[in-house]
Amino acid sequence: MIGIFVLLVSSGVSGTVTGWLIRSVLAANSTPHEPTIAQDQVSPVRPAQNMMPFTAQVSGQQVHLLQQQQAERSAKAAADAEQQRLTYSVPKQFQGVTLQSAQLKIARDAIALTFDDGPWDTTTDQILDILAQEGVKATFFWVGQAVQNQPEVARRVVNAGHAIGNHTMHHRYDSMSAADAADEIETAAQVFQEVAGIRTKLFRPPGGYLNNGLADYAMNQGDTVVTWSVASSDTDSTRDAQTYVHNVLSTIKPGGIVLMHDGGGDRSKTVEALPVIIRSLKAQGYRFVTVPELLRLESDGW
Ligand SMILES: [Zn+2]
Repeated sequence: MIGIFVLLVSSGVSGTVTGWLIRSVLAANSTPHEPTIAQDQVSPVRPAQNMMPFTAQVSGQQVHLLQQQQAERSAKAAADAEQQRLTYSVPKQFQGVTLQSAQLKIARDAIALTFDDGPWDTTTDQILDILAQEGVKATFFWVGQAVQNQPEVARRVVNAGHAIGNHTMHHRYDSMSAADAADEIETAAQVFQEVAGIRTKLFRPPGGYLNNGLADYAMNQGDTVVTWSVASSDTDSTRDAQTYVHNVLSTIKPGGIVLMHDGGGDRSKTVEALPVIIRSLKAQGYRFVTVPELLRLESDGW
């Protein structure tokens, strides 16, 4: 019935004709247990504010205007939601600071998985598949060069609803001038915007080095510098996947931020360890949120 109404309204049928047809439809759809709506009960109807009048003379132009306003409101709401989704904003208290984990009082089951140095050929997609199967959202700290190499993979990470952070353009460890630090971070940000349409204020310095100029620049820009509280040590290729699992399980705490890698080298052992890590932590009662979600929990007193 609503479909018929919408169809009539959109085809510009005048209000009186629309009202007549609606009464007919109401009568036709009435069950035997419902009293049939008498004509004089329905008409005239004083239209409530913002409601489509049934019997008032509504011109095609007015209907069109109402439809246009409705469409504009919907478009704005969708744009706002999209903007929030693609900026990964964090509460004000965490802007311009460095943190390793969240301090949670109530939601002590919440932790965040993070993956650095991607997007990467094959392993990032394998990790995305595991996260999807397990219903887990994570945070990826991207290197600008890697995004340039794997733009399609980057877009898949964003579309899967994971959060993104900046991990510089070239993954340098050395001390650098403020101008170089700005270049490393801003060039990467520009690549992320161009390739995946995102803007992030989350930053993780390569290697976790906080004194080579990068973290200072990021904090001056109001970025949240996110290190980690739990190291899987999955860049140590001399160890096996079971060691990565042990490293995480032996050091995890509520509000913890776990460091892993989807890129920067052969990460097949990370892919091997990840399902075991997720299932073991779930069995301990943990649940997985993105870094912005984790910080919102702390900010809201959870
Ligand atoms: Zn890194």
